[in-house]
Amino acid sequence: MTTHRSYLLLCLALMPAGAPADPGCADSAEVSEIADGVYVRWSHPAVMFENDNIANLGFVIGSRCVAVIDTGGSVAEGRALDCAVRKLTELPVCFVINTHVHPDHVLGNAAFERENVQFIGHEKLPRAMALRGDTYLQRAAEHSGDAADPSQMVMPERTVSGEVQLDLGHRTLIVRAHATAHTDNDLSVFDVRTGTLFPGDLVFLEHLPVLDGSINGWLGELGALMRQDFERVVPGHGPCCAGWPQAGQPTVDYLTDLREKTRAWIARGGELGAAQESIEAARPERWRLIDQYHRRNVSAAFAELEWEE
Ligand SMILES: [Zn+2]
Repeated sequence: MTTHRSYLLLCLALMPAGAPADPGCADSAEVSEIADGVYVRWSHPAVMFENDNIANLGFVIGSRCVAVIDTGGSVAEGRALDCAVRKLTELPVCFVINTHVHPDHVLGNAAFERENVQFIGHEKLPRAMALRGDTYLQRAAEHSGDAADPSQMVMPERTVSGEVQLDLGHRTLIVRAHATAHTDNDLSVFDVRTGTLFPGDLVFLEHLPVLDGSINGWLGELGALMRQDFERVVPGHGPCCAGWPQAGQPTVDYLTDLREKTRAWIARGGELGAAQESIEAARPERWRLIDQYHRRNVSAAFAELEWEE
């Protein structure tokens, strides 16, 4: 574990000559440069609303400006990420990309709300934010002790269906909207220069995958990504950067097994409640948070698969 002191020294070492020390940035996020100009704030596996820093966040620095990929589970987390950006470059943030609606990825948005910052999300993200926003803010407020503040749910002003390219100055990001998978509003972000993919929560490592979209869709979208070459892939949760496609395999294995067992259960005429008690997670040694999320995943898979012919 890097100590705070050694982290400060690291920041000083990474700081380009002339970058201003910002007195408002005492709580800067600890980030690592995983490829030229590509930074990640790593997370640890933990339950939403009860913990901080549970999703991986990133940013990419071009010659003109910076793109932030997910903002964390609170405005404080977003501010710490913003500070990490400002310690590394004087270039402005021009894009904030939310990979999907989950609160550990979007509730830091308000920290970046200022002129000339464009918020980008899947075409279905505004609807998902409208449906879930109040609940997320309420749960987050219970955790922080602060009052729920609706202004923290910052909606995308630019939505993506299909694919868009973002120009950061001598650097292009390709943002792709996926079919319903982990959620119905998943985006992935590809940095062309370094071959780095941010797949959002289409890829989990260590933290049990959480099914909030479509198990068939997720296996389809992830299968397609696994047939492509990437230099490195930053999972939505879990450590960097096992080789690709190997890093996608645990998520595929878990979902494939869950689908097979749930289909078999339904074919035998079994009920949902008993399925939740009986269907176990494959390869449990790979995962943390099974107790918190597996039963819910069985329920989501059951609801989808019982309508298959
Ligand atoms: Zn998620």
